[in-house]
Amino acid sequence: MPTDCLFCKISQGDIPAKILYEDELVVAFHDIAPQAPQHVLIIPRKHIATTLDLKVEDESLVGHIYLVAARLAGELGISEEGFRLVNNCGLAGGQVVWHLHFHLLGGRQMGWPPG
Ligand code: 5GP
Ligand code: ZN
Repeated sequence: MPTDCLFCKISQGDIPAKILYEDELVVAFHDIAPQAPQHVLIIPRKHIATTLDLKVEDESLVGHIYLVAARLAGELGISEEGFRLVNNCGLAGGQVVWHLHFHLLGGRQMGWPPG
């Protein structure tokens, strides 16, 4: 695990974040620069840099992240109106933090295609 990874530090409690949910596999916390009324990041505790670094053994972990996202959407009150669950992969994908994460965004109408 890289010692300089921001999201590893948040997962370990070394850097504070507004944590919404955590279990042995994942942590969900509010994005520091929200792009929607609700903007939560869901990360695995395990350091995985990008979607391209996922291994076969991570299959159930990604499924777990999706189920956590769906549950949090319900708790945040955005499941009925709809929401977006996004993973940015690589530079052209807009990835800035190199620890796998999923953006859960809701509370406003999303545009398509994304910018
Ligand atoms: P990416 O562009 O890599 O998909 O998304 C990274 C996200 O992490 C951005 O939405 C950014 O606002 C968020 N972020 C960056 N630094 C911090 C931080 O220190 N705390 C929290 N809570 N979010 C952060
Ligand atoms: Zn990390």
